[in-house]
Amino acid sequence: MERTLSIIKPDAVSKAVIGKIIDWFERKGIRIVAMKMVRMSKEQAEAFYAVHKDKPFYDSLTDFMSSGPVVVMVLEGENVIQKNREIMGATNPKDAAPGTIRKEFATDVEKNAVHGSDSPETAKQEIAFFFSEYELLSSTK
Ligand code: UDP
Ligand code: MG
Repeated sequence: MERTLSIIKPDAVSKAVIGKIIDWFERKGIRIVAMKMVRMSKEQAEAFYAVHKDKPFYDSLTDFMSSGPVVVMVLEGENVIQKNREIMGATNPKDAAPGTIRKEFATDVEKNAVHGSDSPETAKQEIAFFFSEYELLSSTK
């Protein structure tokens, strides 16, 4: 069993597709073990995306991620880090395969509906960024 961090980004929250995106995960057998809606400050968005601080899109991305509420979730399942990345689709919705969340719900390469951790190390860090141990629940009891 593996865990990963998923974020429903401000564009998708604003489009009122939170439920549809959660349904996408649940239909694929992924379980939600933590979830909350938060609004990040610019500073929190900068800290979350620190790995991208030298990228040309960093300032715009962190403005966007702090522009409205997001839904942060911890997803659990077998191989869920990679599975979530596949369900999300490519970063740029123009390249995203049909049937992926980004193909269906993203606006553009920045406003691309969802975030997903990309490795076990980043999953661990990103989960700890938003959740404490007591907020991580078992979904099967
Ligand atoms: N992003 C952007 N322009 C780009 C590449 C990425 O605005 O050219 C944004 C986009 O919201 C993306 C986030 O920065 O989801 C993080 O980029 P990353 O390369 O890690 O893509 P992801 O892992 O989200 O697919
Ligand atoms: Mg990434």
